[in-house]
Amino acid sequence: MAQHLSAVARARLAAQRIHHFHGGLRLRHNKKISCEVPLERIPPSERLFVPLLQHGYSDAARSLVEPGQAVLKGEPIGSYSEPDTGYVHAPTSGKVIALEVRPIAHPSGLDGECVVIEPDGEERWSWLEPIEDWQHADPATLGERIRTAGLVGLGGAVFPTAKKVEGAQARGVHTLILNGAECEPYISCDEMLMREQPEKLILGARVLRRATAAERVIIAIEDQMGVVQRMLDSALKTCGDGEVEIVRVTTIYPEGGERQLVQVLTGLEVPSGGLPLDLGLLCLNVGTAAAAADAVIEGRPLIERIVTVSGSGITRPRNLIALLGTPIHELVERCGGYRGDVQRLVLGGPMMGYALPTDAAPVVKAANCILALTADDLRSPQPEMPCIRCGECMRVCPAVLLPQQLHWQVTNQQWEEAEEYGLMDCIECGCCDFVCPSQIPLADWFRYGKGVLVNRASEKRAADHARHRFAARQERLDRLRRNRQDRIAEKKRQLKQSSEGRRKVAEALERARKSRGEDEGRSP
Ligand code: SF4
Ligand code: SF4
Repeated sequence: MAQHLSAVARARLAAQRIHHFHGGLRLRHNKKISCEVPLERIPPSERLFVPLLQHGYSDAARSLVEPGQAVLKGEPIGSYSEPDTGYVHAPTSGKVIALEVRPIAHPSGLDGECVVIEPDGEERWSWLEPIEDWQHADPATLGERIRTAGLVGLGGAVFPTAKKVEGAQARGVHTLILNGAECEPYISCDEMLMREQPEKLILGARVLRRATAAERVIIAIEDQMGVVQRMLDSALKTCGDGEVEIVRVTTIYPEGGERQLVQVLTGLEVPSGGLPLDLGLLCLNVGTAAAAADAVIEGRPLIERIVTVSGSGITRPRNLIALLGTPIHELVERCGGYRGDVQRLVLGGPMMGYALPTDAAPVVKAANCILALTADDLRSPQPEMPCIRCGECMRVCPAVLLPQQLHWQVTNQQWEEAEEYGLMDCIECGCCDFVCPSQIPLADWFRYGKGVLVNRASEKRAADHARHRFAARQERLDRLRRNRQDRIAEKKRQLKQSSEGRRKVAEALERARKSRGEDEGRSP
């Protein structure tokens, strides 16, 4: 505890001033266009297509339902093989009419299995039990609720929240950082959440503080979110507990990245290959905190999320609350449909998002933003040119890497060197792409390179495992052989001993017999 208190004191001192991270870009925000109208809840679609593959941290969930089966709103319909990953839940009540492979929103671009639900319009809940006395609940109980409610990081990373919370419980954290620094252009779902549901966020912050035993909570917002600051300040007065504070950080991309935000707030650097947990910190998105309040206080699993629908290809950009499984074209229609020459539909922001194959893909837990980009938004494709070693990419890289060097290593498959130069620390922010005068798609190369390193690591693990198994088997066989040889030797020794013994007995008997004969010869 003493160690934690001093860590808190250090973090408090460090947070009294805002620090800076290396590099980054000042980008046009383009958020105002989607923040002018209030949040609106979109009614359930005629068909919901709930993907069983919701994130990239595990395989797809296994369906728990069959076609023809009735489901209640919030009922688990898919479970993951990794227990920490929780469940996928039915977004509304109705009937499962099919399990089918359809286009989904996933970075791989591949189709995925979906549970197709026909809503009955009755919205009949299968409630989880609210945890009434959550202020005094055991942290393990809260962690378990976060798991069963299927919570994931709603900032787009969709890492299972229960894993992070369990890590914090096991290792201990002094500060919980709630990330509202939504630094990527166009995305405004977190800003709208903080403006319109600030009490829910504050309650979620308190729930997570209880679950992680953190001593303080920082909600980080951008310095241009004046309305948000006022709304949160007023919510703190009504439902805060004195341990939640709001900190405004400079608006610079990618300040909302976990590592960058930790550095800005504390001046501390998350070690290469490490986690904020290594510094006694846990970082979660503000949307995740609000979902934690829903799960614990209301007993509602994660079945909906706020989605920004924006871009110059959208008639009336805004933020919508949509059930998971709602086809994306229905969100676009709710925003007045497309306008202009839409060239690309993106899930996420313009820097880190990925292109969607079709607007028939449904809303998933990762869907923080749907962006319709026209030709004017996109840089006209230029031929890729050789690197001129200008160093611009290095200047803007927030991970303090040498992108030009990494590019050389990845394109030449120098994997050991790329690993040594920190390829796995690349956060794929795209800053280097943005400034590269040679139009080299650096972030794409690094995404590919990281995939290769992950595969190599898992192949190495598999090979090491096979080698250990082989060595263990050899050792076992050797041991068995040695045991057998020892047993045979012992047997022989015993046999030898016993034949020797028999011979000695026979000799003794013979001597005795002879001695008796001599005695009889001497008798009168
Ligand atoms: S910005 Fe592009 S051209 Fe300049 S050093 Fe980096 S990779 Fe090379
Ligand atoms: S994509 Fe990777 S290498 Fe490029 S600037 Fe971002 S962190 Fe640095």
